[in-house]
Amino acid sequence: MTRDYSQVSFWLETCGDSLRPRPPLDGSATADVAIMGAGYTGLWTAYYLLLHDPSLRVVILERDIAGFGASGRNGAWCAPGLNITAGRLEKLHGHEAARATYEAVFEAVDEIHRVSIEHDLDIAWRRGGELIVARGPHETPQLEDEYRELERFGFGDRYLLLDASELSARIQVSRATGALFTPDAASIQPAKLARGLARAVEGMGANIHEGTEVTDYQPRSSTSRPILRTPTGDVTADVVVLAGEAYLTRLRRLHRSMIPVWSLIVLTEPLPDAAWEEIGWQGHELIGSPRFTVVYLSRTSERRLLFGGRGAPYRFGSPIRDEYDRHAPTHEMLRDLAREWFPPLARHDVKFTHAWGGPLGMPRDWHPTISFDRVAGIASARGYIGHGVSTANLAGRTLAELITGRRTSRTSLPLVGHRSRSWEPEPFRWLGVRFVQAALGRVDRLAEESGKPPRGRSLEEWLARH
Ligand SMILES: Cc1cc2nc3c(=O)[nH]c(=O)nc-3n(C[C@H](O)[C@H](O)[C@H](O)COP(=O)(O)OP(=O)(O)OC[C@H]3O[C@@H](n4cnc5c(N)ncnc54)[C@H](O)[C@@H]3O)c2cc1C
Repeated sequence: MTRDYSQVSFWLETCGDSLRPRPPLDGSATADVAIMGAGYTGLWTAYYLLLHDPSLRVVILERDIAGFGASGRNGAWCAPGLNITAGRLEKLHGHEAARATYEAVFEAVDEIHRVSIEHDLDIAWRRGGELIVARGPHETPQLEDEYRELERFGFGDRYLLLDASELSARIQVSRATGALFTPDAASIQPAKLARGLARAVEGMGANIHEGTEVTDYQPRSSTSRPILRTPTGDVTADVVVLAGEAYLTRLRRLHRSMIPVWSLIVLTEPLPDAAWEEIGWQGHELIGSPRFTVVYLSRTSERRLLFGGRGAPYRFGSPIRDEYDRHAPTHEMLRDLAREWFPPLARHDVKFTHAWGGPLGMPRDWHPTISFDRVAGIASARGYIGHGVSTANLAGRTLAELITGRRTSRTSLPLVGHRSRSWEPEPFRWLGVRFVQAALGRVDRLAEESGKPPRGRSLEEWLARH
């Protein structure tokens, strides 16, 4: 029986496609480039490969359907930014490399818009910008620090610090004391981007096989070209691209390269006009928070309010199962938080109609990787954590440039060729991750209760960043 993919997320439900899987791989095949995963990374890689060389034979193997993973479930943020700060990139790779990396993610936001127009992808693009909202004086210094850091890297003119009254002219968030704003971010319909890209790359000549699970891969050997293995046959190619983000941890060789961390989302019914009048938010900005316990909000084109966050516990051994996409206590916590941020939701008795989630891939050092080993014939891009919409475009574009032997401003970025150290074996991984997950919540609570910002010097804050 075919699975009902419309239940995976509101975005897949409303993307306008039938979601019937394309035909699976039937027997073995050969290609120039074989890609595992039809999310943004795999699809962008295919897109730029075929843009550079339309004669390439590109095959994409997808376990479920295009957009089944994080690309069809995310919080709609198409925003510049990375989970690793510019300051930390600078410590690792120098000032100019850090600046260039941030510049490249700004460019990726524009590039996604450009391609969506060129291919008529109808992704509900809305450039409302991004507001990181401080709720209480203890959160304001983090915004000021962030602004100063962005200024130091030459991005000061792209950001504005707003005080409480400037912020309230845009949106009414309870207890808000200010915000950091950039106009360079947009909300999108994530699944329409993934599904539209899949159609676009097919139109350019790629073969997408859905319902086809990659179970292993093999680098080039003295007797064979690189291979993607599936239960029904192998695809042999000059280059194999591993683009499965969190799901890569299911492959034996990559099991400890990342941990799957669940991000969860709740969505309201369309709000009545009276509620929107009280809340404001006419600019459709993306909204986030400087707290360690991540939350992300967006206003959809259907007049609904999306409230996402992390909080589901890490599970021993890093398993990925569909039932983890819904975690009742975390979803309830997010509904409560949404009502706390926006009291009109309760006053107007607004219902929550959808709840879903999915795994993010978290590397040990929070550092994304874009890699191509020409000798082994293996390419991969992963580890974007919560910033994959723009980063996957950058990664796919860069992988295509590396594979086709181009040298560009992107191919020398420090994300290229980066190797994150592996996560610890169990039980140490479970113990460490659970400790940090619980401790970061405590850091936020302590800051809120004391009214003082986190000092940035506690063990848990250090662990969270290393
Ligand atoms: C709930 C949630 C909210 C998020 N919110 C945001 C946001 O607002 N902004 C932002 O920038 N980022 C966000 N992210 C992160 C972002 O969505 C991802 O980083 C990005 O979509 C990753 O794209 P990808 O193609 O690398 O991976 P995925 O989209 O996960 O694609 C991987 C694909 O591989 C397939 N696959 C898995 N295993 C196999 C196998 N064995 N064989 C073949 N195929 C396989 C999967 O079915 C999937 O289609 C969010 C993520 C989640 C889960």
